[in-house]
Amino acid sequence: MNQPPEHCPYCGDPVGPVEGAESGVVDTPMIYRCESCDDYVFYNPTPGGSAVVVDGDSLLLVEDFRTSGEWKLPSGRMNLGESPREGVARELEEETGLAVDAEDLTCFYDEAGEPVPEQYMVGIDYAVSRSKTTGTVEAASDATDARFFTPEEFAASDHSIKETHVDRFGEDSLPWLLEESKRAIELREKMDEQRN
Ligand SMILES: [Zn+2]
Repeated sequence: MNQPPEHCPYCGDPVGPVEGAESGVVDTPMIYRCESCDDYVFYNPTPGGSAVVVDGDSLLLVEDFRTSGEWKLPSGRMNLGESPREGVARELEEETGLAVDAEDLTCFYDEAGEPVPEQYMVGIDYAVSRSKTTGTVEAASDATDARFFTPEEFAASDHSIKETHVDRFGEDSLPWLLEESKRAIELREKMDEQRN
């Protein structure tokens, strides 16, 4: 579950928190018990992730359909059965039309947040060069636009960064995301060369 459970999902009876099962980071119990079923209900963060596609000094952003004029990295939640990189590769293709082999995504960052009160997320973030992707950029799924920007171009535009992106990466994150992603891609290329 990704919100504090009040009722048992099996029998519907009320559940109560198990003593000592607080998160340790926030003051919230994570394990609940149903006395009727004698079973436990877990309250956990939801895994998600983002892709930074780098083309020279630009990175790919999408405009969210819920909030016109607000942009973010291509991102989303993992589907059941997906690894984090498989989920991010799927979200990238759904939102931007660019296909990528999940193996070509390089993890460069991870984060935790609470974008909606009491709904915690963990994010795992991957970098990839545009040259490793195929297809043409075309917004789809829950994105209304998808474009490459340099951080300077974006700052000079009348667009803004979506609140959930700020929650994950902080204010003025684009220069940092671009640099970290370029560094991760370079390092990965060197490692791949040595392996071959
Ligand atoms: Zn029950």
